[in-house]
Amino acid sequence: MAAKYELNDESVIVVVGSGAGGGTLANELCQKGHKVVCLEAGNHLTWQDIVNDEFEMYGKLTWQDPRTGQPIWIVKAVGGSTLHWAGLSIRFKEYELKTRTTYGSVAGANLLDWPISLKELEPYYDKAETKMGVTGTQGFPRQPETNAFKVVQYCARKAGYSFEMGPSAINSVARDGRPACQMIGFCTSGCKSGAKWSTLYTEIPKADATGKFELRPNSMALQIQHDRQGKVTGVLYVDKSGTQQVQKARIVCVAGNSIESPRLLLNSASSLFKDGMANSSGQVGRNYMRHATQHVYATFEQPVNAHRGIHAPGIMRSEARHDPSRGFGGGYHLEIFDVGLPFTALSVVPGAWGRKVSSLIEQYDHMVAVWTCGEDLPQAEARVTLDNSIKDQYGLPVPNIAPVTDHPNDVELLKHARKTLETIYRAGKAKDIVWRAPFPNSHNMGTLRMSARPGDGVCNAWGQTHDIKNLFISDGSQFTSSGACNPTLTIVALAIRQADYVHEQMGAGAI
Ligand SMILES: Cc1cc2nc3c(=O)[nH]c(=O)nc-3n(C[C@H](O)[C@H](O)[C@H](O)COP(=O)(O)OP(=O)(O)OC[C@H]3O[C@@H](n4cnc5c(N)ncnc54)[C@H](O)[C@@H]3O)c2cc1C
Ligand code: SF4
Repeated sequence: MAAKYELNDESVIVVVGSGAGGGTLANELCQKGHKVVCLEAGNHLTWQDIVNDEFEMYGKLTWQDPRTGQPIWIVKAVGGSTLHWAGLSIRFKEYELKTRTTYGSVAGANLLDWPISLKELEPYYDKAETKMGVTGTQGFPRQPETNAFKVVQYCARKAGYSFEMGPSAINSVARDGRPACQMIGFCTSGCKSGAKWSTLYTEIPKADATGKFELRPNSMALQIQHDRQGKVTGVLYVDKSGTQQVQKARIVCVAGNSIESPRLLLNSASSLFKDGMANSSGQVGRNYMRHATQHVYATFEQPVNAHRGIHAPGIMRSEARHDPSRGFGGGYHLEIFDVGLPFTALSVVPGAWGRKVSSLIEQYDHMVAVWTCGEDLPQAEARVTLDNSIKDQYGLPVPNIAPVTDHPNDVELLKHARKTLETIYRAGKAKDIVWRAPFPNSHNMGTLRMSARPGDGVCNAWGQTHDIKNLFISDGSQFTSSGACNPTLTIVALAIRQADYVHEQMGAGAI
């Protein structure tokens, strides 16, 4: 049964955001017996609200409050971007956690090693994969091969490469009170069957069942408050009726995704924290990363019917390695990623219209698409700042995401990925190869990064801010590098790890 806490209850932990990081952390803390209030800006959707319609679900899920700068794709709803996500779940490699040591000093890049090793993360990856039911790991079977997979795999094999099905946080067998994937093909529209792991279907109801959890949807956090010593004391937010409230807190954990999290800290500037909260390093908002990506279609003589089955059925791992002889640092995964006809029609050829577009759309059932997920190097000037010229509906300055150009390393990496993909498609006798418009940034990382030294970043190896002991960063903002890995598995692993740390520190009376 859901808990109900008083606004002046100073013993609760407030978690801002209910997505991959916030939803997981909230549940883990509740399972350990802690009292949690989760402030979530978006609606709490029910099964009836999830429909198999890309445009309708884009409208219901997507964060559309004003922003300036680069286009961003995140969700404003209970469950966060785990409602839109496609489920691919890949672990970081050791070198990806140690980029400064491995790549050395790279001009224009603000490289730093994570203060955690892969060995320390591995037990938490195991727990995250088990929680999420990641196929091909922890004994979970892989999905049956989809049409899109079979076609891409055929091409890849001809060119001497190989893809694998998964690893996906989508049930391949009924488990955890949810069914096996029905291969309906609306994964990024929420997944009506609930086969895809989303905190909306898993962590949130589980936290609720503990009786320790209070979820407050339609509650936008505006500012984190602190006492004279700089210790965090609560969160000012607008509740569902539009009234401003302050929820007192023993600990505040920020998990609003890599744009809204730094924005909240910047909006929490005060006479004590003039440049924003937890910003003595000047790193709040900096080192924004979103992966080096490109999305490439190929058309074939025979129908592919890529829309049948999961959107992102499989990946190719062999280029995800550090091999400077290729002319760049880090590596990339190639990921099969098809969207439905409406989204394809919207963006199939950047800037084009008329016959060129309509003849391509006519071939929708003969198409397949592969996305590059490449390491994006952090740049200090790739940053989130406040744009004081525009206010949102709550009267807050909107975030600006600096439109920084790709780092030269990203450019070289993408060229290499493009050649590899062309080789693969041509080996399989693709008719046309089409470079589609990029998606808005959906893998948002960095902006409140982890660092061993307080001067280099915002939080320590547990996401605890260097400046304020009872303030935590609990989402993808913590990332020190992007790796070539879709971020969610790592966000979930870090949230489980953070819950252990918070529990231990509270037990010891340290926070
Ligand atoms: C189309 C698409 C496909 C994707 N596919 C994959 C994939 O295959 N694999 C993968 O690993 N990742 C994928 N991702 C990325 C993945 O969804 C995100 O990386 C992940 O969900 C981020 O987790 P988070 O906790 O940082 O933020 P989110 O999950 O976005 O959660 C943030 C939550 O905080 C809330 N919030 C923000 N600010 C406030 C505030 N001030 N007050 C209250 N609430 C607030 C938001 O409403 C939201 O619910 C995909 C994303 C998209 C859009
Ligand atoms: S294909 Fe599977 S994961 Fe995707 S929407 Fe259908 S049931 Fe959900």
